Amino acid sequence: MDGLYRILRMPGYEVLDVKIWRDKHRVDVYLKREEGPRLCHCCGTELLAERGGHGMNVEGLPMGVLRTRFHFMRAKANCPACKKSEIRAD
Ligand SMILES: [Zn+2]
Repeated sequence: MDGLYRILRMPGYEVLDVKIWRDKHRVDVYLKREEGPRLCHCCGTELLAERGGHGMNVEGLPMGVLRTRFHFMRAKANCPACKKSEIRAD
């Protein structure tokens, strides 16, 4: 399973869990963002504390007959430079 975790890893995220549903021909991958500073995607300034977020489910590339689906949280935070309130923090 360690090898599978490495294959399914995404940059900046760690794999929390992988569930293989052979009967549904599907793999569910649960990701958690790695610790570290979050930078504004507009100006690169380090963002302030997170202000909530929402869950995301994204279809990945298939592995043979198995479809992959990635589950992770998308956080929001304020940028002190842009003064925008709803900047994605990932
Ligand atoms: Zn910014």
